[in-house]
Amino acid sequence: MAGWCGMRDPRYDILFEPVRIGPVTTKNRFFQVPHCNGMGHAMPLAHAAMREVKAEGGWGVVSTEECEIHPSSDLTPYVEARLWDDRDIPALALMCDKVHAHGALAALELSHNGPTASNLYSREVLLAPSHQPSKYGYPSQARAMDLHDIAEYRRWHREAAMRGMKAGMDIIYVYAAHDLSLPMHFLQRRRNQRSDAYGGSLENRVRLLREVLQDTREAVGHRCAVALRFATEELLGPGGVELAEAQDIVGMLAEIPDLWDVNLAAWYNDSVPSRFAREGAQEPFIDFVRKATTKPVVGVGRFTSPDTMVSQIRRGVIDLIGAARPSIADPYLPRKIEEGRVDDIRECIGCNICVSGDMTISPIRCTQNPSMGEEWRKGWHPERISPKASEARVLVVGGGPAGLEAARALGQRGYGVHLAEARREWGGRVTREARLPGLAEWARVRDWRLGQIGKLANVSTYLDSALTAQDVLDFGADHVVIATGCHWRRDGFGRTHGLGVADFAGNPRVFTPDDLMDGRWPEGRVAVYDDDYFYTASVVAEALRLRGCEVTWLTPDDTVASWSANTLDYRHIQWRMAGLGVAQRVSHMVTGYAGTTLALEQVWSGAVASLECDAVVVVTARLPDDALYHALKAREPEWADAGMRSVACIGDALAPGLIAHAVYAGHRYAQELDVPQHDGVPFKRHFHHDAPVA
Ligand code: ADP
Ligand code: SF4
Repeated sequence: MAGWCGMRDPRYDILFEPVRIGPVTTKNRFFQVPHCNGMGHAMPLAHAAMREVKAEGGWGVVSTEECEIHPSSDLTPYVEARLWDDRDIPALALMCDKVHAHGALAALELSHNGPTASNLYSREVLLAPSHQPSKYGYPSQARAMDLHDIAEYRRWHREAAMRGMKAGMDIIYVYAAHDLSLPMHFLQRRRNQRSDAYGGSLENRVRLLREVLQDTREAVGHRCAVALRFATEELLGPGGVELAEAQDIVGMLAEIPDLWDVNLAAWYNDSVPSRFAREGAQEPFIDFVRKATTKPVVGVGRFTSPDTMVSQIRRGVIDLIGAARPSIADPYLPRKIEEGRVDDIRECIGCNICVSGDMTISPIRCTQNPSMGEEWRKGWHPERISPKASEARVLVVGGGPAGLEAARALGQRGYGVHLAEARREWGGRVTREARLPGLAEWARVRDWRLGQIGKLANVSTYLDSALTAQDVLDFGADHVVIATGCHWRRDGFGRTHGLGVADFAGNPRVFTPDDLMDGRWPEGRVAVYDDDYFYTASVVAEALRLRGCEVTWLTPDDTVASWSANTLDYRHIQWRMAGLGVAQRVSHMVTGYAGTTLALEQVWSGAVASLECDAVVVVTARLPDDALYHALKAREPEWADAGMRSVACIGDALAPGLIAHAVYAGHRYAQELDVPQHDGVPFKRHFHHDAPVA
């Protein structure tokens, strides 16, 4: 019966078994573990609507992000959940009501972040097990907590737990993971140098965690399950939590929580990009927990394959399938498995653009799921879209992420859609980039859309069809969408060189990432000149190194790949480049290139330097491939006779950006076709008052 719509494959039945968690029972094994979203306490309606869609999509448990319990754990500028006093309850009650409406349980991750808070808003002094600098580079220190502070912290945690229960939460977390919370900080030798009953021996360092678990049970355990989120390894050696010690800790606390939620710390070791970790990569670090306790265990691993999920459960690794990213990319993942629609799952690609929302303090967005973060403010839904409002026919030119998503979503609305692609393969940049080292999973952006389009009789597709303006006019669609992408510049123009680098023009030693993706590779000593600051230069450097080149990664910035910190790639990139032997030269810009000599200038001192290299790969900026769009605009007087009413340019062809931008642009076009637009703010916002507009 596999794949028969409406029928679940019996092999997946185990995923839909209820699981008892202390005093509550989840209807199935799908557990949306806590995840940040950049909306938090500042945008409670948007937050609740986002969580609701997860519950609607079949997740048995839907959690908040970390929730500040007290002004001395203020995470400003990051926006997380907040329960400082009773006035914060209604915001979280909104979420609980929406989650409960779909039969799911709501979980709350309480946290006091100690030296990993900022207190930039509250201006309280940071707290920590011992005196130490604040973690995130603020020029201040946290003070050592005395016994009174510890008692106060326990009281704040108890009170926050009771507030959570009042809001309607079913599961209350004690948080000891990600190097982000006091119970974990007391475990860490590098953060805890106390000589009293809370420091020194393992028993002493575990004391606070044990007490807070017991406090939470006493406060809310009659109604709520008490979960422990616990990091089993920090990969930092003896200064951090290590596996051997974590095994002892799990042994000591085994039956105290109702649920163990286990993972790696810090966040960059937990939500590892797909370039650096495969599905289920945490298993060797967490599989011991299930054997040490009778309580259910939830773990994560960017699980998108139901077979992997079943295997995790059958092999006794975990009881509940934890997911943050897979639930962001596809809030309906459980329902699709339940309804026998496994090939409809929109699989996470592991790009971590979702993480960048939290990092940049903006509402969460997702490469695969353009409705993520838009549920409330734009009313977008990951599965539903309003039906077509006319019989218009739409021609989409370009089969990259923007064109594929526009065609798919227009097709879902019921429009007659024609999708033309110049190349002999679909996917545009996604297909091309997915061939570079580590990026194979990015092809899921193409594959999911092609799969969906294949099920829509009203979408026709044409490969090997490079359209000219005349072709488009002859076709005579009502609406035309130009999604023809972009290309990397060769002239060195970018953030640093507003006039480009003169010696790059027409120089056969100068390459772009497009040359490489087209199969034209340099050899010998190669400089990768990065004025882009995200992932491309590192992927190019890796590819060149794997082909035997001697590679120097050169950038005017003070560090390589600076933006990649926002996607948790940064450390993994550094480790990989170090492992591959890619040399780095930072804070240097190029001033010329004669023969094999690249002339450099140190950006701060102005000191002149040089680098011998046989070729340069220039990763600085891109230019839209918008010639077709402009040719059509130039012929606007002919549109009416051709039956054309509009021509739009979207995605990289309008302004090169992330794959996420292109997917969003395609989706937005489809959402807005035939929907009257006004010139006001195009989405709902949160206001703190109801003052009438003058
Ligand atoms: P985006 O990220 O905006 O979707 P891509 O570069 O990934 O952009 O995809 C653009 C696609 O459009 C490429 O696959 C390219 O081959 C195709 N394309 C470019 N020009 C034309 C054209 N004139 N006719 C049909 N397809 C085109
Ligand atoms: Fe997955 Fe990328 Fe979406 Fe995050 S943004 S959920 S990593 S596809």
